[in-house]
Amino acid sequence: MMIQNKYKILLVEDEANIRGLVSTLLETAGYRAISAESCEMAKTIFASYMPDLVILDLGLPDMDGMELIEFARQDALTPIIVLSARMDEKDKIAALDAGANDYITKPFSSGELLARVRVALRDHRFSAEEGRYPGGKFSTKELVIDYDARQIFLKGEEVRFTPTEYNIMALLSENCGKMMTYAAIVKAIWGGAAQEGSIKKLQVNMANIRKKLGDKPGGANYIANELGVGYRLNA
Ligand code: CA
Repeated sequence: MMIQNKYKILLVEDEANIRGLVSTLLETAGYRAISAESCEMAKTIFASYMPDLVILDLGLPDMDGMELIEFARQDALTPIIVLSARMDEKDKIAALDAGANDYITKPFSSGELLARVRVALRDHRFSAEEGRYPGGKFSTKELVIDYDARQIFLKGEEVRFTPTEYNIMALLSENCGKMMTYAAIVKAIWGGAAQEGSIKKLQVNMANIRKKLGDKPGGANYIANELGVGYRLNA
């Protein structure tokens, strides 16, 4: 039966109208949606129901939604998309650093939400498979990364990257589809905490990388930059 193949999505949202709207949207798109209106309820459902994806509002009545991220990340890699009305970048960064895969700021369009859901489920399937990149290669659109040779190809032609640029590309590709915060990238590439100097260094490297990839502002780019937050290599 088809219904058994449906992805299960846990929606954690205390506002009834948004909960209803998003549930209907997910069900219409062919997912199975289960809702929780508090963090405590979400924890119980998460543990028993084992969803394939969590959509999580950070502002919950009983606890901060961050608590659910920490709870879920204790032993599960289930993708989590944070839904937030908060304007503060610090909250988004904290959620991403705690293990959320992506975030959407309210108000959002239904098309945007469904696109993020598709990406999160697809990326998780990649990473859940053994031998994520057969032959030690990563590819998306016209970009190919050969991890063994440390080479990057665009439209079949090798593009020269500095060792640091290559390391950043390898890191982003291993986390393809996930928004990586400045702090997470700086720590992985140079070690240590992100300071003004290291973030500047990252931005300079990213500008060079994006130029080499042919990314243009507003285009269908390989790398997405969320100002003040981080970077994502789009799948
Ligand atoms: Ca709320």
